[in-house]
Amino acid sequence: MEGNRDVWVREVGTRDGLQSITTQFSTEAKLEWIRREAAAGVPEIEVGSFVPPKMLPQMADTAEVVAGALDVDGLNVSVLVPNMLGAQAAFASGAHQMNFPLSVSEAHSQSNLRKSVAEAIDDFAAIMTYRNDHPEYAGVRIAAGLATSFGCTIAGQVALKDVVSVAERMAELKPDELSVADTVGYGNPAQCREIFREVLAIAGDIPVAAHFHDTRGLGLANVDAALEVGVRRFDASLGGLGGCPFAPGASGNIVTDDLVFMLEAMGLKTGVDLDLLIEARSYMEQHLNGEPTHGAFVNAGVPKGFVRAS
Ligand code: ZN
Repeated sequence: MEGNRDVWVREVGTRDGLQSITTQFSTEAKLEWIRREAAAGVPEIEVGSFVPPKMLPQMADTAEVVAGALDVDGLNVSVLVPNMLGAQAAFASGAHQMNFPLSVSEAHSQSNLRKSVAEAIDDFAAIMTYRNDHPEYAGVRIAAGLATSFGCTIAGQVALKDVVSVAERMAELKPDELSVADTVGYGNPAQCREIFREVLAIAGDIPVAAHFHDTRGLGLANVDAALEVGVRRFDASLGGLGGCPFAPGASGNIVTDDLVFMLEAMGLKTGVDLDLLIEARSYMEQHLNGEPTHGAFVNAGVPKGFVRAS
């Protein structure tokens, strides 16, 4: 793995976190957060999403944020794209990677995107074709995200066979990453082992990432379960910034700082310096208008005798 890391941590607070809160960060505040977190050693940051500004005004400056983030040495700059228009904006922006999520749950896909799962897969195929038709974009990585793989607020349970079938169809399109998401925090460790075993087998050489929310407090337990079966890429949000539109008051993504502490304590190198990460967290928190942050490590610090992974 790049930079001698055992586990790849992708910060998504600047996208998943910011889109779920009411505070609007200025472009400069986003960029300073990104610079500080990159300086702490976080190798990839999802800096925004190319969605219509009317839908998510917090993300309206994504092109400028990408431009600024591209000046940060060594940082992998990624963005979320929901459709072809977003993908074209992402290609034009110069971002290194775009993450395209589709919903495994048919009900969620219809209600959120007004598209069937099959139509969303066609959209993804069209984005892959667009890249193939434009040699100048050959180096841009495209990740496929399987949202609501662990359950959905509309359909409730999502069947493993549905996750498997979507993963198979996405893997055939040869994305640069398959990301499996517990979008609403329904997942548990046993389910993680089951789902990731299947998806890793389907993915073959394609790297597999996990996207967990800590809505019900099982986020890090789910990470441990995913690690056990071989997942080595995790999304997380600094200070757990964010929330869940379906559960007011609930926490957001798993907490980057707690995740890094856990991995380093387990002997898994992340390349991230915890002191600098906490400094980046303080900077981010200064910009919040009363929105809560989460996490335990920030209050307790490292245990006596702690040695980071080497
Ligand atoms: Zn999420």
